[in-house]
Amino acid sequence: RQPIIAIDGPAGAGKSTVTRRVAQALNLVYLDTGAMYRAIAWLVLQSGVELSDYGAIAELVSQAKLEFLPPFEGKPPQIYINGQDISQAIRTPQVTALVSPLSAQASVRAKLVAYQQQLGKKGGIVAEGRDIGTNVFPDAEVKIYLTASVQERARRRLLDFQAQGEENMSLEQLEHDIEQRDYLDSNRCLAPLRKAVDAIEINTDGLSIEEVIDKILNVCPK
Ligand code: C5P
Repeated sequence: RQPIIAIDGPAGAGKSTVTRRVAQALNLVYLDTGAMYRAIAWLVLQSGVELSDYGAIAELVSQAKLEFLPPFEGKPPQIYINGQDISQAIRTPQVTALVSPLSAQASVRAKLVAYQQQLGKKGGIVAEGRDIGTNVFPDAEVKIYLTASVQERARRRLLDFQAQGEENMSLEQLEHDIEQRDYLDSNRCLAPLRKAVDAIEINTDGLSIEEVIDKILNVCPK
């Protein structure tokens, strides 16, 4: 099969840009698993179901039809749920706040991990997430664990928001949100955020995107 490149790490470490660019450089398919968890969070918000109602969430998840379309001819990746394009809607602060606690639920993980494994069964993908190297594709040819300090990650998020015309975010608020998401992602029972034992850790503080991409491409099969 073609190789699988797993890129894990905490929120804001630069995974999305780096993963997309590595996929492009290697001519492999880009998979954004965070977008899938966000899609389920969006669905739960729409439905009005309570986070604590595990049964209703499991039902919602089992009925949901999810489609992830990788970037194509310069177009960003798209995510559809039940036929609706929610690629933009999954980036709101409401979705971001719900996604960590929701992604700790067994029904949500079971559905999405199965979908991801199905998409990657022939290999040929570069996938970003929290549990790709540890849980979704433990036999991935290359495993990368991207990190950066909380301050650096908050600063990058602030620049992203500003680029989208959103001026009302403060650095302190973003640092707080990132610390909270790190805590929730690392301390849940199911698939907690961990560096796989055989992953290569890259701390991206002070590195340019190009430098990070080069480091990853250097360890990928040619
Ligand atoms: O990467 P992104 O910030 O879009 O991920 C959103 C959230 O989805 C993460 O904070 C995490 O709680 C969850 N997630 C996960 N497992 C993955 C990818 C994302 O639990 N493989």
